[in-house]
Parts: sequence; structure tokens; C-alpha cells
Amino acid sequence: MIKEIILCKYGEIVLKGANRATFEAKLAKEIKKRVSLYGHFSVSHAQSTVFIEPLDDNADIEGAYEACRCVFGIVGVSRAAVAEKNIEDILSVAKSYLPALLRGKKTFKAEAKRSDKSFPLPSPTIAAEVGGAILSAMPSIRVDIHNPDVVVRVEIRETNAYIHAGQEKGAGGMPYRSAGKGLLLLSGGIDSPVAAYMMAKRGMEIEALHFESFPYTSEAAKEKVLTLADKVCAYTGQMYVHIISLTHVQEELRDNCEEEYFTLLLRIFMMTLAERCAKGYHAQALITGESLGQVASQTMEAIAVTNSVVSLPVFRPLIGMDKEEIVRIARQIDTFETSILPYEDCCTVFTPRHPRTRPQLDKVMAELEKVDFEGLLEEAYATMYTEKRTIYPEEQKKGTVQ
Ligand code: ATP
Ligand code: MG
Repeated sequence: MIKEIILCKYGEIVLKGANRATFEAKLAKEIKKRVSLYGHFSVSHAQSTVFIEPLDDNADIEGAYEACRCVFGIVGVSRAAVAEKNIEDILSVAKSYLPALLRGKKTFKAEAKRSDKSFPLPSPTIAAEVGGAILSAMPSIRVDIHNPDVVVRVEIRETNAYIHAGQEKGAGGMPYRSAGKGLLLLSGGIDSPVAAYMMAKRGMEIEALHFESFPYTSEAAKEKVLTLADKVCAYTGQMYVHIISLTHVQEELRDNCEEEYFTLLLRIFMMTLAERCAKGYHAQALITGESLGQVASQTMEAIAVTNSVVSLPVFRPLIGMDKEEIVRIARQIDTFETSILPYEDCCTVFTPRHPRTRPQLDKVMAELEKVDFEGLLEEAYATMYTEKRTIYPEEQKKGTVQ
């Protein structure tokens, strides 16, 4: 019986110096939790690789493999067969493991790598032996060292040898929770889930804040946002989504302020409330899905106005991206189809016909004077409640947390 394991190759962690061990530990912890959904596995790491070994026959290695491909901090994932560290066993495992994986392929190349230099055969000899074994087991396949359909690799490591037929791309980035916590302003649109993914990819823990405006926005619109959070959870594992109602704020702005300033004033409320929420939940930055010039509230001048009301750093990972590039990532992380469902957002109710694109801060602030800013902030903040979204069944039972 062949024993199969999963090998995950580190990404940028390899560039770390003294604190590399901290990153490795975070990565191993994240992988361990993720694969626990698919059975009992042992997770260990050595030589820039995480080893995931099934501990019994019930472990779902295919499920665990797919889960590993969504873990940040890994650049390559492969399923590999385990062999004893002698050439006889390596050849015997190669002969029984590889034909099924190479079926239908025309050409291959075999490579070997020894991390354990005490292994008696040099790498080219190991590769040649394994290549020969494949040729004798599969008469129809040929060797092509320049442009093979499949690369077979033999890795001689500390305790065992591993044989695999190709590596798939991992999620890249840095281990989740290795770069502080950010509060994402999450709407139901295309952009903000992509912004969440991009900052999470750099290791930032993501908590989300969504503004609703019931009854101007519907229950279905909120469910859509929670579905988007669930999609991001494929990468982050779990996410808290705080929800604040802006209904009264929007009505007050509509009744008291110049229409052309509605959106900007609303965004001032959003940013101020987001900063309050971030500080309450120990997030060190705000994240938005803004992209320069995309809409009236995302011109340089408008961004300067909305930035001026907060002191936390605001990360805008999409600022220099075209919509087309954003959509490509949205499709890749499977949020696109949900994002384009036609539900209203609080930004789209009471939208001005001619919004200000080059606002002046003093004029905006003069408009803000027309409403009870502090009183409305207090009232809106008091409406906040929190949903926990998670891929882990034992955490799902707890549901709404506040
Ligand atoms: P998105 O596709 O993410 O909705 P957008 O192109 O619609 O972005 P805007 O509506 O101007 O742009 O919003 C800009 C950013 O403001 C969003 O990316 C998001 O970070 C934040 N935002 C907008 N609406 C909301 C909301 N209802 N709740 C929380 N954040 C919001
Ligand atoms: Mg939007």
C-alpha cells in the first residue's frame, strides 16, 4: 500500500531572518486547523516545506490538498508518495504510484534533489533510475527534458524519500494573522471582497464592517454581503462581520444637506464609524475597495476629504487597478457572481444626480454642521451587531455573537 502525503512549499517566508520561526509556526497552525476539517493529519515542517501526513485511512487527502491551496504563505502544493530512503524502495514506489498519474501524458522528465547529502547516490543517478523505471512500466511515454508534459520529482529528505508528479500553485502571500489586523469596509460590490483577499494575502487578519440602511436596503442585500464574507473565509477560515445601520444618518442628510454632498457626507460618517469600530476591536488600519477615479467619491480630492476625518492608516489595495483587473481577481476568488447580484447598497440610496467630484473640505464641513454629527454617530454606533462567519462547524454553532 502506498502512503501519500501533502507537501506545501513556503513562499516569501524563506526570505525572513531572525523571526522566520514565528512565521513558520503561524503557517503550520493555520494548515493544521484547515486540514482538521478533512480528518486526522499530522503537520510538521522542515527545510522550507510543510508535511501533512494522514494518520488513518479515513483522512480525506483530496479535500485536505484543496484546502492547502487556499492557505496564504505557500507557493506550491503537491501530493507525494512516501518511500524508504533506499533506491530499491524508491523505484518500487515510483513504479506503482506514477503510472496512474502519468496516464494520457506523452512526455516526462525525472528530477531528483537530495537535501540529505549522505544518501549514497547522486541526484542525476536517482533521476535516471526513476526515469528508467517509468519507461519500463509505461512503454508509450517518452522522455523530453526540454518541454515535458509532466515533471516527476524525487526528493531525498531527512526521514524519507518523496515522489511526486508535479506541483500546483499555492495561494502565495504571507501566513494569515502574521501582519496585524485591519477592518475592511465591506459592501456588496465587486471591489471590497477583492480588497479583503489582497490584504489577507499579505498576512493581515481581516474583520469586516458593513453599513446597511434598512428598509431602503433589504435583508437580501445583507445576506449577499454575508455570502461574500463566506467566500473570503475560504482563504481566511473565519471572519467577524460587524453591521451598523445608517438609515437615520441618511434620512438626516437627505432632509438637511445639499444633495451634491450626500455621498461625501455619508462617507465621512462611514469612515468615522469604521475608525471607532476598528479601535474597539483592536484593528490597526482601515481597508477599502476604492480605486482612483472609479466614481465621484474616489477622486483625489474626495479621498482627501474622507481621509481627513480618520487618524488610522487607510489601506486601499485596489487604488491603482483597473476594473478589469479587479474583476479578474473577483472571478478567481469566486466572489464575482455574488457581487453582481442586483441588490441595492446604502451608497446607492439617495444618490445625488450631480455629485461633487472636486470637493473642498471647508464646504463639506459646513454641510456637515447642518446635522447633529456626534449625536447621529452615537445613535448609529449603538445599532452595531456582529455575525461570525466561519468554515469550522464547531464555531458555526455559536452564530451571532453580539
Ligand atoms: P464595491 O464594489 O466594493 O462596492 P464601489 O465601486 O461600489 O465598491 P463605492 O460604493 O464608492 O465603490 O465604495 C467604495 C468603498 O467604500 C467600497 O469598496 C467599500 O470599502 C466601502 N463601502 C461602500 N459601501 C459600503 C457599505 N455599505 N458598507 C461598508 N463599506 C462600504
Ligand atoms: Mg459599493
